[in-house]
Amino acid sequence: MTALPPDRLDEARRQLRTLGARVTYPRARVLAELLAAHEALSHLEVQRRLEGDTDHAEPIDRVTLYRVLEWLVEVELAHRVSGPDRVYRFSAQPAGQALHGHFRCASCTRMFCLDEAPGLARVVKAMLPEGFSSDGVELTVSGRCAACATAGEPLAPHSHSPA
Ligand SMILES: [Zn+2]
Ligand SMILES: [Zn+2]
Repeated sequence: MTALPPDRLDEARRQLRTLGARVTYPRARVLAELLAAHEALSHLEVQRRLEGDTDHAEPIDRVTLYRVLEWLVEVELAHRVSGPDRVYRFSAQPAGQALHGHFRCASCTRMFCLDEAPGLARVVKAMLPEGFSSDGVELTVSGRCAACATAGEPLAPHSHSPA
């Protein structure tokens, strides 16, 4: 397990200060993990990363981790998306900016934020029947991530199991 790049912790603290929020170690540490990740992370994945980083002596217990992740979503420093296994995954990319979709890999079940799609809100609005209004869109593209496509990984059997 690789250690967290130190600049991520600085960036996390900066974001918390900009928000006017109290900068606590668990908040900064968890946000830093999300900032450092290239994919959306589940509670368990964040927990494993925290545990795997032996440079940091201060442990963050499960309850605190749950609370911090929910709080980060609440203050819009992170957002969450439900994965192929119906487990929430968290990403540091702010949800408030522009509408973006997610990619879920059917082989490794990882979730990735896609680039912002400025025209997407307009397209969705055009699809709504007369008199309907939307307050959220979940767009998920499924397939194989670059790593799995390159490796020729087979699709995971559970990816097609009924809900
Ligand atoms: Zn994959
Ligand atoms: Zn996202």
